[in-house]
Amino acid sequence: MILIVLDAGHGGTDPGAVRHGLQEKDINRKVVDYVKEYLGKKVTILETRKGDETVAVINRRNIIAKSKADLAISFHCNSVKSDLAHGFETFRRFNHGRELQNFIHDRVYRFLQSHLITDRKKKVGDFIVLNTLVPSILVENLFISNRKESQLLGRDSFLQELGLVYANGILEFLKIPSGGANINPADYKEVNMKDIQGHWAEEEIKRVIAEGLMTGFSDGTFKPDEALTRGQLAAVLCKLLDRSK
Ligand SMILES: [Zn+2]
Repeated sequence: MILIVLDAGHGGTDPGAVRHGLQEKDINRKVVDYVKEYLGKKVTILETRKGDETVAVINRRNIIAKSKADLAISFHCNSVKSDLAHGFETFRRFNHGRELQNFIHDRVYRFLQSHLITDRKKKVGDFIVLNTLVPSILVENLFISNRKESQLLGRDSFLQELGLVYANGILEFLKIPSGGANINPADYKEVNMKDIQGHWAEEEIKRVIAEGLMTGFSDGTFKPDEALTRGQLAAVLCKLLDRSK
């Protein structure tokens, strides 16, 4: 049986970063809960903290080390004094966990890109929790200190999608069939235009519809090869501009 460790950063008397009315420990908890929900019984899950417990970092490290798990992920959100820093980054320790980092980082970032998040890239960090023989990474899911990103982190629907993307990345990494769960949460939303199947841009069309950037016609077609007018382009660009505010 495949065993993984999910480490929801902070907890109990340690809230982690606290900004814009959010506590990091709560966000990490929710993301891990969604990951668990989507993984279901496909893998055995060991958690370093249940609920809202206080668990010292060294104890988390010991739980991971003893587990001899197939992988471990430590979930965090970033925070700095300034409101300006933003984006997504992941850490491995030295060269350990590089394969896992490449795999998860790329998949999660592909999703975050649709929310116009910046990629702060794959990094190396000497975190205690990563100091084991278990392939492990620490992920920093956006900046709680950035107003725009804190708004996303405060939204359950966003955390749910994020959890799904992590769960699918974990399953893919472990080569476990996801059983119908898709890598792109946009696919979950019903997008059924009758004339896009097999089109070279099918995935992109599904994504812009699911993201609410473009719509099809009332007769259930998208007319993927029809020319776009300057007016239609302006409408799409306005939706993007509204979103990046
Ligand atoms: Zn943290």
